[in-house]
Amino acid sequence: MRAANGGGPSRLQSARLVAAVAERGSLAVEARMHLFEKPRYNKLLRQACRSARGGDGAEICGLIVDAGCHLTFLPTRNVSRQVGHFALLRRDVRRIVAAAKILGQKVVGTFHSHPVGIATPGKADIKHAVDDSLMFIFDCTDKSGCLWKIKGGRARSLRLAFATTHENDG
Ligand SMILES: [Zn+2]
Repeated sequence: MRAANGGGPSRLQSARLVAAVAERGSLAVEARMHLFEKPRYNKLLRQACRSARGGDGAEICGLIVDAGCHLTFLPTRNVSRQVGHFALLRRDVRRIVAAAKILGQKVVGTFHSHPVGIATPGKADIKHAVDDSLMFIFDCTDKSGCLWKIKGGRARSLRLAFATTHENDG
């Protein structure tokens, strides 16, 4: 009887513990997942800075694809006519999502550049993002980049690392 009474809270506690461990575990997995290809990152950062210097402050944009062992950037056209904005063409996105699927890969977010200013998602960035997706922002002022998770209308900064691959960086 006593064991049954005591079993309730203790079971609850262990359930909480399991949940906490699971959450920590998933965070660790998440941290490992945010590994980007260094050559591709360098190439896009150069492109982002070149576009920013172009005079009209153009932004570059594209999709983030989870290739299994690392994340990679797939550039798309920026079809926004507004300066300091980016918009992906639905057709481009559909094509990349389908191609990734064939390769057993997954589109997990978007990237774009900020020609001027910090690598923090703006209000419009968050509003137009798919919920629970990644967003990488290239900062052309600082020549760096930041990774964010957009979830529930909020942006949370994520840690990232770079993997050196043998991609032809031409
Ligand atoms: Zn932005």
